[in-house]
Amino acid sequence: MDPTLCVLGIDAADYALVKEWGCSNLQLSNHSQLSTFSDGIDLPATLEVWPTIATGVPPDEHGIHLHAENRSRWGKSAAIQANRLLPDTVQNSLRKLYQRVQNPQPPQTQHSHAFHTGSIKNWPGLTPCFEWETEGNWFRSINSGNMNGQEFIRQALGNAGSGIGWLAGQDTAGVSVAGVHIHILDHVGHLYADRPNKLRSVYDAIDRLVGWLKKKVDKLLIVSDHGMQTTETDDRKPGVHSWRAMISSTESGDLPKSVFDVREWIEQHTVTTESHSEPQTDVAAPREHLEDLGYL
Ligand SMILES: [Zn+2]
Repeated sequence: MDPTLCVLGIDAADYALVKEWGCSNLQLSNHSQLSTFSDGIDLPATLEVWPTIATGVPPDEHGIHLHAENRSRWGKSAAIQANRLLPDTVQNSLRKLYQRVQNPQPPQTQHSHAFHTGSIKNWPGLTPCFEWETEGNWFRSINSGNMNGQEFIRQALGNAGSGIGWLAGQDTAGVSVAGVHIHILDHVGHLYADRPNKLRSVYDAIDRLVGWLKKKVDKLLIVSDHGMQTTETDDRKPGVHSWRAMISSTESGDLPKSVFDVREWIEQHTVTTESHSEPQTDVAAPREHLEDLGYL
């Protein structure tokens, strides 16, 4: 069976920090800085760059704009302000309703993309992002004093491990190409941009997880959408996105120069053969029994 091309998207993995801290697994055997872009704000934005990485086109063509998402969040905060005038029990019920109705999954593009022959998970602008949303809720819990930083890191590393393990599972399943996005380095970058030792410990943890993944899969591409300004890199605005996106691969040869080139590279390195076609699976157990169990 031809090997799966596994694409690990690591939000905010900063090329300078990966090199400075000697994260050798993250650098794979072939690595470079990746040119990225800004559109809705003056720095690269997660929600706009990830769909560009997968589709190869700018926001005007894939249709996912940061400003549209911002407007819905502003709408939510205005509604919550009005809610404060109501009794507590009504406030709580409405707050839960707002979380479901006003905090929807990020928008998804209809544009063609690099993963149409394979699998994709938790990719902003392409799929539902339950893991990203859950991690975002934990992040907001820190700001409201309901979670401490250590607990956040523990939970977020579990989330990252799930994504990395999912890639190994897709490789085992023999799909042609699989892509997953993990968000931990963005969140901890915003939290610990001025405490490099803390931030480094999380880079080291992700580096170890990628070291595990390298032993499980044959073809791996790692890509980020932007980096993070930190005191370690003497940046002017620690905790704000940087332009230092990165790309690395187990494959030799030229790497994409910009986020707009990644789709073409993925398609050139994806092998789609008969062995990757969907297997026909039959349900062998009696239907009545499955209905009794509640499976059907
Ligand atoms: Zn990002």
